[in-house]
Amino acid sequence: MKFCSECGVRLPGRTSGPWPRVACERCGAVFYLSPRLAAACIAYRDDRVLLCRRAVDPGYGMWSLPGGFVEKGESVASGAAREFLEEAGVVVEIARPYALFRVARGHQMHVVYLAKLLDTAFRPGAESLEAALFDESGVPWNHLAFASTREALRRYFGDRRRGVFGFLYAEIMPFAPAVQGDWANA
Ligand SMILES: [Zn+2]
Repeated sequence: MKFCSECGVRLPGRTSGPWPRVACERCGAVFYLSPRLAAACIAYRDDRVLLCRRAVDPGYGMWSLPGGFVEKGESVASGAAREFLEEAGVVVEIARPYALFRVARGHQMHVVYLAKLLDTAFRPGAESLEAALFDESGVPWNHLAFASTREALRRYFGDRRRGVFGFLYAEIMPFAPAVQGDWANA
């Protein structure tokens, strides 16, 4: 941030306190540099889930759960459903929140919902090269764009085998295995 969005003065670039906040010396506005929030869906149909192959960077050509950044003014679930429609071309029925990831590199939080894929007439949107359904053994595990996708899918298929779905929280740090916590099973 170079200029105050309240009064337009050039910001000094200093931080106040232990967290990286930028404050305007003229009008006192404080800018909270919070993580960006992204939302995605594990959309399932029988034993398969829908993945899209990305037509955009980061991860061009790799597979991911359909998802993207939540826009100002929309609910997180609405953002997940909207992104799904944009990328996969069909409507999903959101079932429930399933996982939350802190993605340290990129300064993001990723929320993953479980969702029912009601319609298999999916088609890739402008940001996808293709969309397809995969069972566990068919998932392109070595060609997934994001660690959060890999961790969410690994947990999903494990939960599905056990017939018990919990809630996953994981911290994804660069160059380290994901650190996971698990909340009470629902
Ligand atoms: Zn200002």
